[in-house]
Amino acid sequence: MSHPLNITSSRFNRRTLLRGGIAMAAASASPLRTASAAPAISNRDARIELTDGHIADLQRSIEGAVILPSSATYNDERRIWSPAFDRKPALIVKTASAKDVQAAVQFARAHDILTAVRCGGHSYSGFSMVDDGMVIDLKAINGVTVDTAKQTAHVAGGALLGNLDRATLPHKLATTAGVVSHTGVGGLATGGGQGRLGRKFGLTIDNMLGVEMVLADGSIVRANATENPDLFWAVRGGGGNFGIVTDFEFQLHEYDGVITSLSYTFPGSKARDVMNVYAEISANAPLELTVSGSLRTSDRGETTCIVSGSFVGTRRAGEAALKALAPLGEPISTRVEEMDYVTLQAVADGNLYSDRFGYSRYTYLRQLDPKFIDMVLDYVMRANTPRTSVSIGMQGGAIAQVNETDTAFAERDGIYQCAVATTWAAGEDSAAGQAHVRELWSMIDPMSTGGFYINEIYDDPEERIRKSFRGNYARLVDIKTKVDPANFFHLNPNIKPKT
Ligand SMILES: Cc1cc2nc3c(=O)[nH]c(=O)nc-3n(C[C@H](O)[C@H](O)[C@H](O)COP(=O)(O)OP(=O)(O)OC[C@H]3O[C@@H](n4cnc5c(N)ncnc54)[C@H](O)[C@@H]3O)c2cc1C
Repeated sequence: MSHPLNITSSRFNRRTLLRGGIAMAAASASPLRTASAAPAISNRDARIELTDGHIADLQRSIEGAVILPSSATYNDERRIWSPAFDRKPALIVKTASAKDVQAAVQFARAHDILTAVRCGGHSYSGFSMVDDGMVIDLKAINGVTVDTAKQTAHVAGGALLGNLDRATLPHKLATTAGVVSHTGVGGLATGGGQGRLGRKFGLTIDNMLGVEMVLADGSIVRANATENPDLFWAVRGGGGNFGIVTDFEFQLHEYDGVITSLSYTFPGSKARDVMNVYAEISANAPLELTVSGSLRTSDRGETTCIVSGSFVGTRRAGEAALKALAPLGEPISTRVEEMDYVTLQAVADGNLYSDRFGYSRYTYLRQLDPKFIDMVLDYVMRANTPRTSVSIGMQGGAIAQVNETDTAFAERDGIYQCAVATTWAAGEDSAAGQAHVRELWSMIDPMSTGGFYINEIYDDPEERIRKSFRGNYARLVDIKTKVDPANFFHLNPNIKPKT
């Protein structure tokens, strides 16, 4: 799992300065005005005057609430998972229905306000919160309806993964979701959706049957295999570029909810053998097994090698799937627990908001061979950089059965995910960790597929976004040009329309 980056973009700086200027000017002209109507910023970084009348009109047009800097709940509402983004929007529209989302989009378009879309707020690069712009907050639209006969679920666009799992598992039905229950379905399911059931049932997008969306022109449309099929293709992996999903329909699968959590920690001295055994295990693994092999260097500079993850089934079967680790001798620690899936999905939740900063690079590998393992291990042992990790996780299985052009998500042949990461607490020096990520990354990148997972974006350049969509990119640009020619939805791993 990777963590957030303390990004300071030039746009951010400009806006911060501009906000200071606007607030000061407004306060000296009329102190009362700053307490209600919101100074804001346009898509072109221009200053916008929103009057109390504008805000009142917006409030009248929605069932939900307009939150302003003067509102009592403003500071709670603007928090997102990553502590790196202490952003102050001009207004937050807490939507209560698809019609509210439509009204918010129409308002933003009419005033040309820079607009972010927020579901679970877990964007590593802070896309869902914006200085001086408007946030369309979907959190209150979170209902899940399960059709047990059809084995499908309708999931509202602001639902969290926990809402989905808690609604389907009592019926012994499930679909793939990520591994932290307060992550939003909205972001996860538009970008891909990896999780403990992915090798068995595919990515979350592979189980998507259709969506209802609000487009940049304010229209509400459905997209599925027969209605707006291009849009349906694009929203399965293309992220938030094409509009705001207000309803997802997912295919569910029969599943009794039995899962086993597995974790074996070995000393760094055994890392080479452990990683080579992990490579053999993962190359021949059953679809039920999803584990990663990781090297972690602690605060004190101690490196351990960990094989951890889960097996969709009983403890006995899970242990059997990893029996090849036994000849490596006793691990430093072993944690194996059979539990129910909904419980395991929340085990890594921690706090709703993270207190650690982070930086990471992510890609996919087609194979895991001894040469690659040697290269990574030699670097990690030599560098010995505190608070860093490199993790190689299993993908493949049902995910690799889908053709690269069937959905916008193209990284189907990358059967391993590889993440190099560092994290730090406020006040800790992060320079060595970030340099470590970049240096190790530059060695791994030439051996990777060249793409990455857009939901793991930090400060990755536009070129990497383009590369990760491979041959699908041109079609995505065409669809974006059709449905969002002004690039209204651009606070995301952006696919730019043709000009
Ligand atoms: C702790 C943690 C654990 C994670 N675990 C996993 C994991 O197991 N598997 C995995 O695949 N990923 C995982 N991720 C990455 C995650 O998929 C992305 O961060 C994703 O963007 C989060 O979605 P969100 O709705 O919570 O984010 P938000 O920050 O609310 O939204 C991010 C972006 O998604 C888009 N978006 C959100 N909602 C909608 C919507 N309804 N319609 C259209 N666009 C929308 C918008 O562009 C928005 O800016 C994890 C992230 C974190 C922080």
